[in-house]
Amino acid sequence: MIEIKDISKSFGKNAILKGMNVTIEKGEVVVILGPSGSGKSTFLRCINFLERADAGEISIGQTKVEFKKAKSKEILAVRRKTAMVFQQYDLFLHKSAIENVVEGLIIARKEPKEEAYKKGLELLSKVGLKDKRDAYPHQLSGGQQQRVGIARALALNPEVILFDEPTSALDPELVGETLDVIKHVAQTGVTMIIVTHEMSFAYEIADRVIFMEDGVIVEQGSPEELFEQTKEERTKQFLARFS
Ligand code: ADP
Ligand code: MG
Repeated sequence: MIEIKDISKSFGKNAILKGMNVTIEKGEVVVILGPSGSGKSTFLRCINFLERADAGEISIGQTKVEFKKAKSKEILAVRRKTAMVFQQYDLFLHKSAIENVVEGLIIARKEPKEEAYKKGLELLSKVGLKDKRDAYPHQLSGGQQQRVGIARALALNPEVILFDEPTSALDPELVGETLDVIKHVAQTGVTMIIVTHEMSFAYEIADRVIFMEDGVIVEQGSPEELFEQTKEERTKQFLARFS
């Protein structure tokens, strides 16, 4: 359903992604693990055209584009099918929770306001924030802000949601509730790629775990395969830091 072929990206002389191939089935939850600086964020950002990869292609639904050659219309088509949830919540600070969620529906998708708000409220319920619909970001905890971000991503009904360390900026006591919401959303069949350092969460939520280092996939498999029957020495060394 999503096929990324031979994606490469350099910054200046530094090769960051070195020809990675990743195929993701509809409804699959793929977790990406890897040391800091291994190219995980760059990989997600290239998928979403926040960065322009130097080579490779992506097929997503009926859309197939070469990263390097993609024109703005093709980029828009890919962006419409992908939503990103960042490490730092990036809500509009002068908009309420519900306004943040419906913004894209009304502005980008031109949905009638009434429908957008109805959908927005359903999504806020889904992430456990129905009663916070009118709260502004500064009135919400970090975890609640991340959950608004997740509702906003879901509103656009993307083919895949890309999570880049969604809990790493949160206070420890707020991590659990945010991971629970992501798990809940995953159970509804949403396709996800999640970069995280939360190993027990990864174990529970992933259909497949990819370990990458220095811009290449070192090893991938089911959580059981990757965590319990680890094959590669580099993966073992990485996982040992978390046990
Ligand atoms: P990770 O998310 O796995 O920690 P990143 O994808 O953020 O890794 O970064 C991989 C490497 O690419 C790092 O060495 C980082 O410094 C470099 N890098 C990332 N973005 C840029 C950029 N915009 N310009 C130059 N170097 C970058
Ligand atoms: Mg990163």
